[in-house]
Amino acid sequence: MIFVTGGAGFIGSNFVLDWLAQSDEPVLNYDKLTYAGNLNNLASLKNDGRHSFVRGDICDQAQVLALFQQHKPRAVVHFAAESHVDRSILGPGEFINTNINGTFSLLEAARAYWSGLPDDEKAAFRFLHVSTDEVYGTLGPDDAPFSETTAFAPNSPYSASKAASDHLVRSYFHTYGLPVVTTNCSNNYGPYHFPEKLIPLIIANAQAGKPLPIYGDGQQVRDWLYVSDHCAAIRRVLEAGRLGETYNVGGWNEMANLDVVHTLCDMLDQLKPKAAGSYRDQITFVKDRPGHDRRYAIDARKLERELGWKPAETFQTGIAKTVQWYLDNQAWVADVQSGSYAKWVETNYFNR
Ligand code: NAD
Repeated sequence: MIFVTGGAGFIGSNFVLDWLAQSDEPVLNYDKLTYAGNLNNLASLKNDGRHSFVRGDICDQAQVLALFQQHKPRAVVHFAAESHVDRSILGPGEFINTNINGTFSLLEAARAYWSGLPDDEKAAFRFLHVSTDEVYGTLGPDDAPFSETTAFAPNSPYSASKAASDHLVRSYFHTYGLPVVTTNCSNNYGPYHFPEKLIPLIIANAQAGKPLPIYGDGQQVRDWLYVSDHCAAIRRVLEAGRLGETYNVGGWNEMANLDVVHTLCDMLDQLKPKAAGSYRDQITFVKDRPGHDRRYAIDARKLERELGWKPAETFQTGIAKTVQWYLDNQAWVADVQSGSYAKWVETNYFNR
């Protein structure tokens, strides 16, 4: 069995669904169910005995250790985090708590459990830490993409807290020999993505006739990766990644935010034409985010070369699937939007 933290969030729930579609190995999903955790994402597993769910906080070391000892996972895949940069600017405390203290607590529980395992299980155990390319900071237009040796230079409380967690994970390998691997991935998109993030926010607001908010001039460049390609990379690193190493995960797909929004508007114009005009008419430029990184680009050649991973989707195929998913799953969107975060998005994007 594998122990997944944050498996009710966007990437974690995609990972759990993907894992159980490809393997019969059970998953214990441990999640606090913050505003970002949504068990509806896993509704299809309701009667599937391979998936069990425990609500809990990764800061609760005693509970995590008890679960490890009871269920004897052969691996931990650690997604649980506070993940939204804007929220980290308004209230960094939870980011420090979950991303740094929580990861520390989880590492301590893993170390205590792992050190008591018989030698063969000890050697087979893995702790996979899921992290972000944002730890590397920002790039100029002509800079080479981030590689695994790029120095960390985080610019937001979110990326700083993730950088700290990456360092802690690394230190547990070098200090205690805990068998860890870390992935640093670019921006994900796909099904079950909370509509506070750019792509689902634009799709939802476009259809609701609301403004499509773009920070600053919209020329911030990000690399985009379809979520199932990230899940496949994590599976591959878990299977064959070298211990103590980090692997960048990316789609070689840099795009300016404004171009992403134009693409979405044009697709929606085709699929759900407005009575008059284009969805592009709803684009509204808003005050830029403080400390907003200008460009992220990721060099994923280590993962491609060492582990043979390659993304299956291009941006064009992935974004087409994503838009269609949101059009087909409006009940999911409505359900999420009736939650407390909807008010938050309203206040923070439009009423400041
Ligand atoms: P998310 O915000 O959608 O989900 C986070 C999940 O963690 C939620 O289910 C939440 O309930 C849970 N959680 C939060 N605090 C917890 C705690 N203290 N204890 C237990 N569970 C807790 O995030 P996501 O976008 O799915 O990201 C998952 C991971 O991947 C994060 O570590 C993030 O840094 C990383 N990542 C995300 C992206 C991206 O584009 N979304 C890219 C690279 C890396």
